[in-house]
Amino acid sequence: LFAGEVEFLKGVVAMSGLPADDRIEVCFAGRSNVGKSSLINALTGRKAIARASNTPGRTQEINYFTLGDERYLVDLPGYGYANAPLDKVAKWQKLLKQYLSGRQSLRRAFVLIDARHGVKAVDEEILKLLDQSAVTFQCVLTKADKVKAHERDKVLTQVRSALSKHPAAYPEIVLTSSEKGDGIANLRAIIAGLI
Ligand code: GDP
Repeated sequence: LFAGEVEFLKGVVAMSGLPADDRIEVCFAGRSNVGKSSLINALTGRKAIARASNTPGRTQEINYFTLGDERYLVDLPGYGYANAPLDKVAKWQKLLKQYLSGRQSLRRAFVLIDARHGVKAVDEEILKLLDQSAVTFQCVLTKADKVKAHERDKVLTQVRSALSKHPAAYPEIVLTSSEKGDGIANLRAIIAGLI
């Protein structure tokens, strides 16, 4: 669907650096190490495309990728890093708030949650921010290949319960494994279907 038409556009560190607000866009958020780069690579069919966002210095940037000429995929910096300097965290939170509340073309945020761990306190912060910004968000469980069915069902129940407290939550949860490819086509179709 998007393979071959995905390009890294730019890393943004301030609202003034955002591209024109004239395409449909979706953003991806998740705790560091949740599997965000792997998922974006699997989605776009391009190895290493999201690696740029994991290189030092790039981690605090909002990274824009073009999906064809009608859409943007926006890779938000991972959160919850241990040892992150507080001034950096504060600066990042300010930019994130501005971005989420000011972006007309943002159709949906995908919040990545590790299928082994469920929604944690650090995730709740961004879910709250998405509620406040009235940005519809959808949970994507990552690394589904790492859990057995009964464990996965327990986590799904926990995630559903957490989502029920968030007015901006989209009810359908997407299960994915970047390793096995599970759920990738589904997620692509969801993004392609947003208008
Ligand atoms: P990020 O920090 O959120 O960008 O996370 P990465 O994409 O770098 O992934 C973190 C670690 O989890 C890496 O060691 C990946 O190989 C691993 N990982 C990511 N996705 C999957 C998956 O679907 N299945 C398995 N088994 N491992 C994964």
